[in-house]
Amino acid sequence: MTTITAEVNKKQKKVPVRGMMDNVMEQFNSAADQINLHPNIRKILSITNNEIIVHFPVKMDNGEVEIFTGYRVQHNNALGPYKGGLRYHPTVDIDAARALAMWMTWKTSLAGLPYGGGKGGIQLDPSKYSQGELERITRRFTFALADNIGPEHDIPAPDVNTNSQTMAWIADTYMSTRPPAERTANQHVVTGKPDGSGGLEGRDRATGYGVFLNIKFWAEKNNESLFDKKYIVQGFGNVGYWASYFMEKEGAKLVAVQDAFGSIENQNGINVEDLFNYSLSNNGSIVDFPEASALKSENFFATDCQICIPAALGNQITAKNADSIKAQLIAEGANGPTNVEGEKILLDRGVSIIPDILCNSGGVVGSYFEWLQNRNGELWLLDEVMAKLDKKMRESFNKVYEYSEREGMDLRTAAYCIAIKRIEKAYIQRGIFP
Ligand code: NAD
Repeated sequence: MTTITAEVNKKQKKVPVRGMMDNVMEQFNSAADQINLHPNIRKILSITNNEIIVHFPVKMDNGEVEIFTGYRVQHNNALGPYKGGLRYHPTVDIDAARALAMWMTWKTSLAGLPYGGGKGGIQLDPSKYSQGELERITRRFTFALADNIGPEHDIPAPDVNTNSQTMAWIADTYMSTRPPAERTANQHVVTGKPDGSGGLEGRDRATGYGVFLNIKFWAEKNNESLFDKKYIVQGFGNVGYWASYFMEKEGAKLVAVQDAFGSIENQNGINVEDLFNYSLSNNGSIVDFPEASALKSENFFATDCQICIPAALGNQITAKNADSIKAQLIAEGANGPTNVEGEKILLDRGVSIIPDILCNSGGVVGSYFEWLQNRNGELWLLDEVMAKLDKKMRESFNKVYEYSEREGMDLRTAAYCIAIKRIEKAYIQRGIFP
């Protein structure tokens, strides 16, 4: 196992970083300038606390052993244990994990949760592995992470290509490797577990519901209704599906969808449940859905619509396609879907963006509820969960919206300013050890 501390990182400062990390740093620095962030706290927050990289062997179905590389980056824990997802995808690397961990720090702070930020995953394409192999990979990754995760230290959750089953394997492996008296008390080492294994009713839909709520709150502020509004969704997984489910219930019309395999369009509307059931029967792909026509992937973001929900990967809306976007609102279900250049173009054109750290924060709020439920030995009911989520999301949205109006800044900068100020306050109150 390699653990790179912040100290080592400082020596690497001159190495140019690319991709998502550039975006998150630019967003952070611009907000830090706005609030005159204390220079010492800017130094601390510009760097990750811990970076854990593990290489571990797993026996494949054919008897051969394959070596995997897993990451867990712990950005900051000034407000509480590190919190953030685990992603299984070929694009997972240290740069992506750092950026995603930083976003989690801002997200948990903005939501007013007692958490810091972390993120990680394994660089792999899960479609190339059997269910048995994925289980062994997950369990061995958990074993390799060992005490670098823990219910009061660092609490992973699902992200791209991981789900409640993945979390159940992690919880079981973590609990099985504790001393006997501590085993069952540790199930909140991960959130996003299945109902029946410590999972929270409604955690599956929490992120998508939060995305929908943010869109609804934005529409209310702009005296608009979602009824008959056309929207497009990139990514039809956990976040994309549930956001669409709630948008459809409100009367909005899904007109185009893109996933990892292709894009489809129907300006008369795509039935969300029909598409979901079709994708389940089609290896998770929306391609060739009979009630829509194929759309060239490069034309997806230019589809005629009022609302665009990117809910797949980072860096999808850039200088290359921002000019062609027809939507008047971008609701960021994904983390980091809009890069800095793309955002400038959109804001200049008067397009509103509900930023990821606000828009998709329903997921981590749901995770917090699950963690509390496990910690207190309680079982919460779905209605109770949804009502609490609704209240929390409204508070966050109003806080960001009002700050942005008052200070005359875009929603992302406002969200960052609020989030960073809360962490700054904790550092100022506590001081720096020793
Ligand atoms: P998921 O694995 O359930 O679904 C991902 C979807 O994106 C799939 O439909 C996949 O086909 C599609 N996709 C993958 N690569 C693509 C590409 N290149 N182009 C278009 N589509 C592509 O993942 P998820 O949990 O829904 O996460 C989606 C995004 O939301 C990620 O950015 C994640 O970090 C973010 N997010 C997730 C949660 C959560 O609770 N799951 C919470 C907050 C943020």
